[in-house]
Amino acid sequence: MISFENVPKELEPFLGEVKGRMFLVTGGAGFIGSHLVDCLLKMGAGRIVVIDNLSTGNVDNISKDSRVEVLNERAENSKPEGKFDFILHLASMADPTAFIEHPIEIMDANILGTRNMLELAEKTGAKFLFASTSEVYGNPPAEALPLKEEYNGNVSVLGPRACYDESKRVGEVLVRAFIQNRKVDGRIVRIFNTYGPKMKRYGQYGRVVPNFVCQALVGEPLTVYGTGKQTRSFCYVTDTVAGMLLLLFREGTKGMIVNVGNDNEMSVLELANIVTELTGTESNIVFKELPKDDPLRRKPDLTKAKTLGYSPKVKLEDGLRETIKFYKGILGK
Ligand code: UDP
Repeated sequence: MISFENVPKELEPFLGEVKGRMFLVTGGAGFIGSHLVDCLLKMGAGRIVVIDNLSTGNVDNISKDSRVEVLNERAENSKPEGKFDFILHLASMADPTAFIEHPIEIMDANILGTRNMLELAEKTGAKFLFASTSEVYGNPPAEALPLKEEYNGNVSVLGPRACYDESKRVGEVLVRAFIQNRKVDGRIVRIFNTYGPKMKRYGQYGRVVPNFVCQALVGEPLTVYGTGKQTRSFCYVTDTVAGMLLLLFREGTKGMIVNVGNDNEMSVLELANIVTELTGTESNIVFKELPKDDPLRRKPDLTKAKTLGYSPKVKLEDGLRETIKFYKGILGK
């Protein structure tokens, strides 16, 4: 499996930063969070407190290790004891179906949760990382691509994605205010579409990769929304985690805002065809209505991330093969 059996090469210089240190990870039982916890364990973290209300996360996602303690709490209510060297705030539902069902909880995690974690970082002197999102760019016009961190975004305050997009934007502003006015050592990562094992599966979650893979494996039609010409750039989760940790550990990143993802842009229809080919499914494709405000194109400019030593390594076909293997296990195929 492409996982953290070995520490990624680019993170090796930071083993000394991690060894024996105290981490707090909100959302650590979720998809990206649990891979990140695995990586920190592999790097020698002393103790990791995971704060996760398990709404979409699952304790089984986390490796069994006595250094990890999971508190079933919401990030905005949590008052964990102890001193932390690093606080990483990832907690938030991130799938577009949750934007309709749980808008208030999403805003609480991204606004009140961010504030609560920033206050803890201020109190304990911890280095802070906020997991923001490419959604802060909204639905950008073609001329804004590839998306640079300086681009202001084209977000609809009235649309169904507003609860997520706008609250992540407020979360970013909070981080910058705590850096400026309260001397918190903070930084912001804008995560682009990430996929891989442990993403919640079809039937529980509406993200495109688990949907297509599980549909293909059970022989159902692959549901392409709209024409399928809309694009995304898919990044395998170990690459995303490596980018996040580079931003956290590298010297001189205080106050930085950095895109992390893969810049291999493709249409949703192309993705459906690749999944069809890799699974060997007989499933066909059905076209369904495009959700409102679904961004037409998304591709990161990774120039800034590359200055930190970031470079996504996992090829889409290899990452998808791992993902297919994982869902085969879950679905008993
Ligand atoms: N999508 C799709 N079929 C699905 C799920 C999603 O065609 O079963 C499309 C969706 O409309 C979007 C893209 O795939 O254009 C990525 O969707 P996802 O929910 O994974 O992420 P996001 O929209 O947040 O980038």
